[in-house]
Amino acid sequence: MSHAWGYAATNGPEKWADHFPIANGPRQSPIDIVPAEASYDAGLKPLNLKYDPSTCLDILNNGHSFQVTFVDDTDSSTLTDGPISGIYRLKQFHFHWGGSDDRGSEHTVAGTKYPAELHLVHWNTKYASFGEAASQPDGLAVVGVFLKIGEKNINLQKLLDAFDVIKSKGKQTTFANFDPFTLLPGCLDYWTYLGSLTTPPLLESVTWIVCKEPISITPEQMAKFRTLLFSAEGESECCMVDNYRPPQPLKGRAVRASFQ
Ligand SMILES: [Zn+2]
Repeated sequence: MSHAWGYAATNGPEKWADHFPIANGPRQSPIDIVPAEASYDAGLKPLNLKYDPSTCLDILNNGHSFQVTFVDDTDSSTLTDGPISGIYRLKQFHFHWGGSDDRGSEHTVAGTKYPAELHLVHWNTKYASFGEAASQPDGLAVVGVFLKIGEKNINLQKLLDAFDVIKSKGKQTTFANFDPFTLLPGCLDYWTYLGSLTTPPLLESVTWIVCKEPISITPEQMAKFRTLLFSAEGESECCMVDNYRPPQPLKGRAVRASFQ
């Protein structure tokens, strides 16, 4: 890799191992979730998500995705229970999506790709900061939600309306009073397994919690995601599409289901 990582042939997922050898490690993400091979675990608790919209701070095009960032200096927006113990604080959420509606999710379900996937990233408060937690085996918990083509999703609209301002890499604007709970599906049944960040540095620190039920989005709303750019202002325009890593080998890991 002669330049920064990305999703092109020259710097994409197939090349990441050159600079991040953990790319071939034992607990990489995403994976293909095969429901028939996931084991129901009656001991898995329901997810307990408590989000305070006043902790929502800003929205940023980081050149790989767009992300909405939260103030995380108190236990105001947290994830507890589910497969984890202790208190995890919400740091940010972001999406991955395709160049067309037939692909875009990182996790797949029995080989099925969804057009997009939402990731809500939380860090374990037994550590001092997100940065410290990000390299610990139990440091992060990410809730993944699939998007599928269907009805218009009015809860996504405030995000889409901000895209014109954060079109290029490095653009950022305030994004106040957004409640990420509105992005979750009605049913919070989930699969869980131990994995990694899906972008470099690919740290193996994530307890993945992938919701079974997708949320909906229209083709027109999906098209708006593709108006964002990987490129910075003044560079040749490069549409932000196909910013997903494909499924990685399971390597003997267990996938558990919270539901039968
Ligand atoms: Zn992600």
